[in-house]
Order: sequence, then structure tokens, then C-alpha cells
Amino acid sequence: MRREPIGPSAAAASPGVRYPLDMRILGLFLVSAAFLCADDKSALLQKMDSQAAHYGDLSRKIWEFAEVGYQENRSADLLKSELRSAGFTIADRVAGIPTAFTATWGSGKPVIGIMGEYDALPGLSQEDVPERKPRVEGGPGHGCGHNLLGAASTFAAVTLKQWMQEKKIAGTLRFYGTPAEEGGGGKLYMIRAGAFKDVDTVLSWHPSDNNGADLKSSLAILSAKFRFYGKPAHAAMAPDAGRSALDGLMIMANSVEFLREHVPDSTRIHYVVTNGGSAPNIVPDYSELFLYARHPSMQVLDGIWERILKCAQAGALASDTRLETQFIDSAYNTLPNDALAALVDKNLHLVGGVTYTAEEQAFADKLRKTLPDATRPMGSQEKIQPPTEGKGGASTDAGDVSWTLPVAALGTATFVPGIPAHSWQSAACAGMSIGRKGMVVAAKTLVLTGMDLFTDPKQVEAAKASFEKRREGHEYRSRVPADQKPPLDYRNSK
Ligand SMILES: [Zn+2]
Ligand SMILES: [Zn+2]
Repeated sequence: MRREPIGPSAAAASPGVRYPLDMRILGLFLVSAAFLCADDKSALLQKMDSQAAHYGDLSRKIWEFAEVGYQENRSADLLKSELRSAGFTIADRVAGIPTAFTATWGSGKPVIGIMGEYDALPGLSQEDVPERKPRVEGGPGHGCGHNLLGAASTFAAVTLKQWMQEKKIAGTLRFYGTPAEEGGGGKLYMIRAGAFKDVDTVLSWHPSDNNGADLKSSLAILSAKFRFYGKPAHAAMAPDAGRSALDGLMIMANSVEFLREHVPDSTRIHYVVTNGGSAPNIVPDYSELFLYARHPSMQVLDGIWERILKCAQAGALASDTRLETQFIDSAYNTLPNDALAALVDKNLHLVGGVTYTAEEQAFADKLRKTLPDATRPMGSQEKIQPPTEGKGGASTDAGDVSWTLPVAALGTATFVPGIPAHSWQSAACAGMSIGRKGMVVAAKTLVLTGMDLFTDPKQVEAAKASFEKRREGHEYRSRVPADQKPPLDYRNSK
């Protein structure tokens, strides 16, 4: 791991320059105060190096569990037991979700949160090798690196707690175990349950192929399952007696394809057919389409969504079938926080990037050959990218949290440069040493940022001011109906 020097540069005042005595004393005091803080940070980073292997093992276990959204029982249990034995108090089944929890230590203000995720993705099972080799054929895998996400955030929470205890730092530290980030909206139900209401600032991070504080936004998303119910019949002997649920689905899908031409730029619409009938010689009496729509602005997406609902109604009308719509998820575009991005950027530079061993370099070279168009250059994993404005291509339920309070975010190079998330290549990285090195960079940066927030109230105030400025008076309102329960079975098709 590359380490940048910590603290002010060693350059001393020029011996030829003479200052009044009181200024020299003041200067000495300021320098020693800065060194004291830098030493604090430096000592904690060294301590973290000695504990990194343990949390690496933790991430590997969750990688092997590879549990999908709302089914992350073993992964959540593992993190809970880690936090419990470190002295945190666990609140279980937050929002009635079996795999959502919080772990709290300390009391009073400020209240600083750290978010951790641990859900895997369907179909991305992969060994930690640089060629396609599923561990379980068709099984889930950690293509988004959430095994690293949960483990690094736990690592950061435990380290910060030990530091607070030792240095008698006032305040409350809370870990958020947030399930089903991949389309299940775990965080929005935790917000609704009031789990974030006393929090001043939340720290978050996400696996990536580069290191950088996040000033980019993500895409707002709405998703639903569209179910068509028809009438079965012999497809050859009595087709006139049947009403095809698959026809309804296909008319809807075609309508959406026509709609695609007449939506604002940057719109994304994608879907899968999760049930299209059982046999060609039976008119399908049931079909299901699972659809996502995204846009950088939730307000714009509202209008697009209205038209998608009309496409679904058109399918049911034309095929004479019945339509049932199950709303699944809504997530806001993330609201960047300028003050927190600057703080994270500063601390990320103190931690430094990721350096590969010869063995890791060979793994990376081989993996990149499977994606020859990878644009990010090798070696960029060692660098820190400056925080830049822009729109990312993904969506996250952390977006909802970012519209309710200031959220700090960063990415670290857990994946080989040029390797995108949600691929078997990223799942391979998340299970081996490259992923673990990136997660340690994340954990360290979260710790240093947490130290700043706990010891400098001005930083918390600046984060709040950035939050208010960015949201421009817009109130957060989830599009998920108020009475909707968490879709605990969203990973199962009917
Ligand atoms: Zn993902
Ligand atoms: Zn993710």
C-alpha cells in the first residue's frame, strides 16, 4: 500500500528570517498542534494495517455467502456479531426487515453514521480467478463488491469506536446495516422507520476501479413488476378461446420501445421477462415483466414513468388481459456534498492508493485482456482522482439518504482499472487481495474523515450548509407508496 506523508511538510522557516518571539512561540504551538493531530491519524492508520487481515477475511466470508437482497442473513449476522463484540448496541430488524440493523456506540452530539451494504447480484457467481468460472453455476456473486463495502465500513466503525473510547471523544457513532441496495430499496424503509432522524452526517463508500471522493450524482430510478393475467387454451386447437398474457407483455414492451425515441436525453429504460409462459402449445395465462426506468432528475422521471404505465395499460387493453402492477423501488439521484467531498479528498490523499504485487499485476493484466476496450490505464489504482461534478450511470438507495441529511461518499480501487461493476470480472476482484487492498483504503479514509467530524464541529456545520445549498429547498418524498411494505421477495419471480 502506498502511503503519502502525513502532516505538514518538514520544510522549516528559512534560518535567515527573524520573527518576533511571540510569533515564533505561536508558530511552534500551531505546528505542534497540527503534528499532534497528524500523529493521531498516523498512529491509527498503522493500527489498522495490523488489523486489515481480519477484516479481509470477513469480506471473503461474505463474498462466499453471496446472498441476494433481503436474504443476506448470514452476512448481516457476521457483521452484527463483529460489532456486538466490539461493544456496539445492536438494533435488529429495523423497519421490520430481517437483515436491516443498526449498531450504536457512545452518546450525545454529534451523531455520525457509517453505512454498510452486503447484498450480492443474481447470476454473477465467480471464482477469484481471471477467467470466467462460476463457483455455483447460475448462482449469485458479489459483482458490486458489497462484501467489501460491509466489511470496510465495519472495520472503520470498530476503529473509530476504539479511538473515541481511548481519547474520550464525545458523540454517537452508528453503523447502518443496509440490505438490498441492488434494487430492493432497503435504505428508504430504514429512513421511513426513523433510523436516520437524529444523525448529523453519514459516511459511505463504494467499490470502484479508481480512488476518489464523490462529487458526482447518480440516476434517479423507479422500478416495477408488470403482471399480465390471461386465459389458457390449446394454442393450436382453440386459440380463439385463449387470451395471451405474453401478448399483453409484448405489446407493452413494444410500446416502451417506441416510447424510447420520445423521452428526454439521459433516460435509461431496461427490462427482463421473468415469466413468459410455460409451453408454446398452451396460450400463456400469466406473464411478468420487471422494468427499471432512470433519469438524472426524479422530477423528470415522474413524467416518463406516467407514460410507461400507459404502455402497460395498452398491453392489457389490446390483449384483453388483466394487468397488475407491483411497484418495487424508487431511489433518488444522489445529492453531492461539497464540504464532505473536500474533506474526504484530503483524507484520501493521506491514505494513498493501491499498489499491486507482481502476482496481482499478472492477475490484473490477464483480467483486462477479457475486456480489451478497458479505457482506464493500468497504474491509475495508485492515484487519487480529483472530485469532479457529473452524472454517474448507476443508481443507489444511498441517494434517498443524501436527500435527507449530508452524506460523504468515495470510491476506491477494489476492481482492476477498467473493470466495471456488475461483471464477473469485478466479482473475481472482490474475492481476492486486490479487492481487499481497495477496501482498506476505504476503511482508512472513513476513519480519518470520522475523526475530523467528531473533533471539529465546523466540519459538520459546513456539511449541513452544503446540503441545504444543493437541495435548493426541494423536500425528499419517496415515490414508493407510504403503505408499501419492503418487497422482501423481490428476488423471487412469481
Ligand atoms: Zn450494484
Ligand atoms: Zn453497489
